[in-house]
Amino acid sequence: MRVVETVAEMVAARRRWDAGTGEVGLVPTMGYLHAGHVSLVRGARAENSIVAVSIFVNPTQFGPAEDLSRYPRDLPRDLALLEAAGTDVVFTPRAGDVYPAGFVTYVAPTGAVSERLEAASRPGHFRGVATVVAKLFNIVRPDRAYFGQKDAQQVAVLRRMVADLNVPLDLRVLPTVREPDGLAISSRNMYLSEVDRQKALSISRALLLAEGEFRAGVRQTNRLLTSMQRVMLEQHLSIDYVAAVDPITLRPVEVISGPTVLAIAARAGTTRLIDNRIIG
Ligand code: AMP
Repeated sequence: MRVVETVAEMVAARRRWDAGTGEVGLVPTMGYLHAGHVSLVRGARAENSIVAVSIFVNPTQFGPAEDLSRYPRDLPRDLALLEAAGTDVVFTPRAGDVYPAGFVTYVAPTGAVSERLEAASRPGHFRGVATVVAKLFNIVRPDRAYFGQKDAQQVAVLRRMVADLNVPLDLRVLPTVREPDGLAISSRNMYLSEVDRQKALSISRALLLAEGEFRAGVRQTNRLLTSMQRVMLEQHLSIDYVAAVDPITLRPVEVISGPTVLAIAARAGTTRLIDNRIIG
């Protein structure tokens, strides 16, 4: 496994792979890796001859009041996990290398997909995500790129970007990896106290409950949303949003007649968590 620390070196490595090394899979991450990231790496390993993983805590996707400076980092541990999962190249650029002096060009998604839900709470977030992912795609030029369904809106935004900008790659989306008790694994779970973690469990429970109601025949999303809210409010979670939306357009769904994302963002203590489930 090779660690590449600069954009220039990564571009040069990619040029060498052009000489017939085979297909390249890219897994973009912000590090502090866990089983969710590892499942993306294993997915990439199964389909590509070269697996590249980027670790970059992208400043442009954090708002001024968000947790950029306290975002957890542990590179030695990340490298050990990536080596064990069969990674070939780890790309760890510095912020000043990705956004050098004079940088002015952003990829700014518009429309419902980038205005609702996460975007409402985190203005500019998806502009930062789309920009850094577009840059990573240009630097690494992967044949396939791997993302987690846990970030459903990110997936919708990036699918649009790939289609709208004719990015020549396959975007792969893999299921959310959960703790045995159902909590979606996240780098931010480490901030949860034991009490807050118990409260946070009501997020995945609410999604499961709604899925059960859907299976039992409920099609009106306002009924599902009310049940989900009740479960979380019982645990005194502070709810940011609970929504039923189309997975592609992110527009609200009122009566379920096809794939629908049930999406939640809530705060347990000071930690903001998101989770979702696709039903229908
Ligand atoms: P992050 O490091 O949080 O930016 O996440 C990097 C990638 O891992 C994104 O595509 C996430 O959607 C994905 N990811 C994060 N948590 C999980 C999880 N629990 N299961 C599956 N994928 C995940």
